[in-house]
Amino acid sequence: MTIQSDSFHVVIVGSGCAGLAAAEVLTREKMDVLMIDENPVPGGQLLRGRGPARDAASRLDSSKKKGFSLIRGLEGSGIHLLSPARVWGIFDRGRTLLISETSKDGKERIREIRAGSIILATGARERFLPFKGWTLPGVMSCGAAQILIKTHGVLPAQSTLIAGTSPLQMVLASQILLNQGRVKGLVNLSSFGRQLNIFRNLPHSTPKILEGLVHQARIWLSRTPVHFQTGILEARGKRALESVVTSKLDHKGRPVPGTEKIHETRALALGHGFAPNVELAAQAGCSLSLDRSKGGWAVAIDDCLETSVPGIYGAGETVGIAGGKKSLIEGRLAALSILGRTDPELLAQRKREQDYGVFLNRLCRIPKEAWGLVHDDTIICRCEEITMGRIRRALGDGFETAGILKKATRAGMGLCQGRTCGPMILDILAALTGNEGNEIHPPSSRAPVTPLPIQTLLRRN
Ligand SMILES: Cc1cc2nc3c(=O)[nH]c(=O)nc-3n(C[C@H](O)[C@H](O)[C@H](O)COP(=O)(O)OP(=O)(O)OC[C@H]3O[C@@H](n4cnc5c(N)ncnc54)[C@H](O)[C@@H]3O)c2cc1C
Repeated sequence: MTIQSDSFHVVIVGSGCAGLAAAEVLTREKMDVLMIDENPVPGGQLLRGRGPARDAASRLDSSKKKGFSLIRGLEGSGIHLLSPARVWGIFDRGRTLLISETSKDGKERIREIRAGSIILATGARERFLPFKGWTLPGVMSCGAAQILIKTHGVLPAQSTLIAGTSPLQMVLASQILLNQGRVKGLVNLSSFGRQLNIFRNLPHSTPKILEGLVHQARIWLSRTPVHFQTGILEARGKRALESVVTSKLDHKGRPVPGTEKIHETRALALGHGFAPNVELAAQAGCSLSLDRSKGGWAVAIDDCLETSVPGIYGAGETVGIAGGKKSLIEGRLAALSILGRTDPELLAQRKREQDYGVFLNRLCRIPKEAWGLVHDDTIICRCEEITMGRIRRALGDGFETAGILKKATRAGMGLCQGRTCGPMILDILAALTGNEGNEIHPPSSRAPVTPLPIQTLLRRN
């Protein structure tokens, strides 16, 4: 879509549940709103795709149902949607956004947009527990496998092994089965007892229990093997993944000798929960806060969902991981705040979803002992190829905070600015030094927050 104006009352970054909900409130009030997303279509992570999985999921999940109806409502709503376009910097105390968009000639160009207010609804990304061979082609995140299925209609492989700690494992398994694929097995780091214990504390959420049971039933009926208290020792393959070696773990997280198992597979999907996307907020000067019950570093907001930079608001996973419903609620609340209003009922619902977030993040958390499994030659920072051994040595030399570790080893200094290894290093520090964060400084981020070709910087609309 061609957008002529360069100035808007409100610019929303991200068109997932949070961005869509905010846009609906603001356009109803005749505000001039621009919503920007780097994906070609709106919907974010939850509202992707097509096929039987999408239809089945919408029946089960009220957030998806609401989200898809918001997408349908975009047409004719007066909202300006700019996609695919990436916001790579916010300057001028939140008044100016620099974006790169692909113009008609197919070339990416830089554009400057002025905003009265900004809502950051930039979502989350996945966390990982690395192991030897995790950089082989064929090893991917559960989210990447979902994108293959939901956006492109392609299965990761004929038979996929799924591993980790997150409920997304179960969702992905169910999606693969619904699309006539096979699941080689589910490998869960937690014990069955620990999972049951956590589920005893699941707050309120009957629809979520129901959704979980439907996925679980599909997995049982397909006779997919589920391996609890099991870790991955290694992924093997010459040029791409060929097999995965797992082992049962004892109560201290150590491999039990003699329980190794080799799973032949071309695809391994990993899911260890989520971390908020905070780079753009950090670059704009917004304060971050470290809270494990929110998924790690999250954008700090006040009761009106305003960040520490006046006029910049945060909503959805970027301010704390808790699922699509919280994102829908917070998108509305951020928009209402811009209009000078609030809604006590929505605030109460938000509190309930935040409680669910605490549960979700506890469920996904990688047990500290698991970091002891990581071999010295495992790559932690993929951009700079920094290994676990290098990090262990730096810790041994006394470099015990994320910032100092970065300077000592270059972990997190590459093109992605620590998007993938940042959450891992936070976990490694907690597991190996006991430093839970009190002495850890927030991650810093510089423009461009995602890599940008120099030719694009030279082209300007
Ligand atoms: C990979 C992945 C898969 C998931 N799958 C599921 C699932 O199957 N079921 C489930 O219940 N929950 C899932 N979740 C959780 C899910 O993200 C939330 O429930 C919900 O989508 C959150 O909505 P949101 O609006 O906060 O963020 P999102 O839906 O993540 O939307 C954020 C949007 O911001 C855009 N964006 C980010 N940065 C920029 C930028 N700089 N410039 C332009 N655009 C930008 C992104 O492209 C994205 O579209 C998944 C999360 C992830 C990370």
